[in-house]
Amino acid sequence: LTAVLMEGRPLAERIRAEVADEVRELGEIGLATVQVGEDPASTLYLRRKHEAAAEAGLRSVDVKVPAEIPEDELLEVVAELNADDSIDGILVQLPLPEPLDEARVITAVDPVKDVDGFHPFNAGELYLGRPTHVPATPLGIMALLAEHRIALEGTRAVVVGRSDIVGKPMAHLLLQSNATVTICHSRTDELGRHTLDADVLVVAAGVAGIVSVDMVKSGATVVDVGINRTEAGLVGDVDPGAIDRAGHITPVPGGVGPMTVAMLLANTLRAAELRDKAALQGMS
Ligand code: NDP
Repeated sequence: LTAVLMEGRPLAERIRAEVADEVRELGEIGLATVQVGEDPASTLYLRRKHEAAAEAGLRSVDVKVPAEIPEDELLEVVAELNADDSIDGILVQLPLPEPLDEARVITAVDPVKDVDGFHPFNAGELYLGRPTHVPATPLGIMALLAEHRIALEGTRAVVVGRSDIVGKPMAHLLLQSNATVTICHSRTDELGRHTLDADVLVVAAGVAGIVSVDMVKSGATVVDVGINRTEAGLVGDVDPGAIDRAGHITPVPGGVGPMTVAMLLANTLRAAELRDKAALQGMS
């Protein structure tokens, strides 16, 4: 048995094309990113985001500030973008260099413009089951599961990882789709006992090969979020041999990664629509 590959690229391209169509209709939409310092991985991720934004016809602004910026000045930069009418979406690239307080900076972003979905307001809306902006990676995974018509209701879903940007929002989205959700983390005892039970297994630990083939239930849907740079190149968190055991599986690279960028564009479009709606309501 070989699993069906859930490739991210074709769906991501379709979503990006749909966003581009809507941007043409709506007119000018602006995305601002803020990079603090010069971390090479952040530079690479941001370049990809700006390329994708440009291709979709979004106007994107790349704000770069030095790593040594005082926190109050960084908050001032965010406040200016909040007040800038030509900016619909704002993204502060994480991680921030020490000693900046990430929670404080994220909370400074206007929740309506928070296209990363990291603001406590947006996290709370997701928790309450009425999501506004949802973090792009779990949102992209839900789109990929829907594309492959993976039924979630009544299934046992296991998420490995409980970060605020992947694990926790992923678990909430699965819960809202009526899966029975288990969240595993670094203190979980006997990880394999949990993963073996999973009809849908999402692995976002950032540990190469943490899920071995014998930890995967036969026929399960496996989403490998992990991106690990090893001597053997880029690998995921799941042993690639799981392709012979799973029913559906995402490749690494080319699975979840492309979806994340596409959903950021979709969130920016949504932010523009939300602002339009708010403006209309303000007028009535
Ligand atoms: P974090 O490091 O913030 O979180 C990792 C989570 O995995 C933590 O909750 C941690 O548990 C858990 N974990 C770590 N080791 C183990 C273990 N041995 N057993 C069980 N759980 C463990 O990472 P992120 O959530 O930001 O990212 C996870 C992975 O996904 C990374 O490889 C990252 O590069 C990748 N990623 C990929 C994206 C994409 O677009 N494809 C986007 C975002 C991330 P604890 O809380 O107890 O510490």
